[in-house]
Amino acid sequence: MDETQRLLIVGAGPCGLACARELDRLGHRNWRLLEAAGEVGGLARSIRDPAGFTWDLGGHVVFSHYRAFDALLEEVMGEDVLRHERSSYVRSGDVWVPYPFQNNLRHLPEPVLRECLDGLANAPGGDLDGDFASWLTATFGPGITRHFQAPYNTKVWATEPARMQSRWIGERVAVIDYARAAAAVRAGEDDLGWGPNHTFTFPRQGGTGEIYRRMAAPLADRILLNAEVVGIDPSARALGLGDGARLSYDALVSTAPLNRLVASIAGVPPEIADAAAGLVHNTVYMVGVGYRRPLWDDRSWLYFPDPDVPFYRVTNFAKYAAANVPGGATDRYSSYMTETASSTARPVSRRGLEERVLAGLVRVGLAEPDTAVASVHVEEIPYAYPVPTLGRDAALNRIQPWLEAQGILSRGRFGTWRYEIGNMDHAVQMGIEAARRLIRGEPETVLSGPAPLPQPG
Ligand SMILES: Cc1cc2nc3c(=O)[nH]c(=O)nc-3n(C[C@H](O)[C@H](O)[C@H](O)COP(=O)(O)OP(=O)(O)OC[C@H]3O[C@@H](n4cnc5c(N)ncnc54)[C@H](O)[C@@H]3O)c2cc1C
Repeated sequence: MDETQRLLIVGAGPCGLACARELDRLGHRNWRLLEAAGEVGGLARSIRDPAGFTWDLGGHVVFSHYRAFDALLEEVMGEDVLRHERSSYVRSGDVWVPYPFQNNLRHLPEPVLRECLDGLANAPGGDLDGDFASWLTATFGPGITRHFQAPYNTKVWATEPARMQSRWIGERVAVIDYARAAAAVRAGEDDLGWGPNHTFTFPRQGGTGEIYRRMAAPLADRILLNAEVVGIDPSARALGLGDGARLSYDALVSTAPLNRLVASIAGVPPEIADAAAGLVHNTVYMVGVGYRRPLWDDRSWLYFPDPDVPFYRVTNFAKYAAANVPGGATDRYSSYMTETASSTARPVSRRGLEERVLAGLVRVGLAEPDTAVASVHVEEIPYAYPVPTLGRDAALNRIQPWLEAQGILSRGRFGTWRYEIGNMDHAVQMGIEAARRLIRGEPETVLSGPAPLPQPG
């Protein structure tokens, strides 16, 4: 593309912003970024509630596989970040088991420990071509599967593991063999270091969204907020906004959810429309609870497989940064950010959610019944996790080539609908690579491999 050609980017989340920024770096300033919301950051934005607590849209931690992402963080955040060591636990029955659960079985009551170890000893090993439920049992045995993996994954995805495939797993699920698990039990030692997010950084102020606010600032003259793309006509290379405006383009990069992108395009063949309509996602409710009580908990985040507890994860958000509570006063305030997942297959009622979450926090021992609540803030995240269902890859293999043939690059967490490349570092790298491909013809690597190492998150 040359400078006379206009590039439009849909979505000012990490991917769209990284794409725009890279275009400027490559000297191509003829772009516009269209964002439906009134602010930048997408799923990685942060909110300050009326009581002065800061919340992310669910627990975000920053870790990276890409030098470009590291460089970006360094450039926009400098020293304005805090560095943490992960301290993470799974609540199993009434005990806290250090994460990963399967590496730290010694904390379980004797009969459960036996069941988990015996199952692991006889587990034949998982087949990535099978469904996720079969993979879990074959990899971990029935004990670990029953006590943690199956209930936890069912909660977080709001999807039965039998409806999911296993190819996405990569490093996102810690796999352990019997010898290592048994040795950890015998040694009476915790095995805590698994996964690259065992250390992570977090912005000193403003939550995760601070990264993207800073990244957007020098680009602001060409970012249009409250500009929802509602229709695309690829043959005319034009798109329409919610307010009726029509913009033409030479190239289009979209980070909108793939199913909604396809639904907005004129003249989509039925097999593409059907493939897109079959993609599955969950919805997450972030319920942030601010307490008028000093920060007492030293842990980072906690997992809850128990189906009777509404949330699947809780982040000790005051611990991430003191600025996440009013006035930075962790001697007076603390805060827990909870995540509860819902889907059409496993819906969670919005009614009474706040009360259920408050009761859940008491039930799991994170608050007392009389702990003074300073704030309860709810954010609905309609598109939270793109679910790797059994039919996902076949659908993507139809949709993506068709979009490319229409001159549309669909990138980012929901633009690719691939959870395994759905973290912020992947999204940023994809945005950078889309820009380099359009301007310089360089091949993209995140989409096509060599596979980046996926992370939990
Ligand atoms: C609960 C949760 C926890 C997470 N934890 C982590 C973590 O710990 N670490 C990590 O690295 N990542 C984490 N992530 C993932 C991270 O949020 C994403 O990687 C990142 O935000 C994806 O960026 P994106 O630009 O691809 O998409 P998005 O952030 O989804 O941005 C897309 C943007 O497009 C806009 N848009 C959509 N449709 C239109 C339209 N029609 N017109 C105009 N604009 C439109 C949206 O408003 C949005 O701003 C988590 C995500 C969730 C939901």
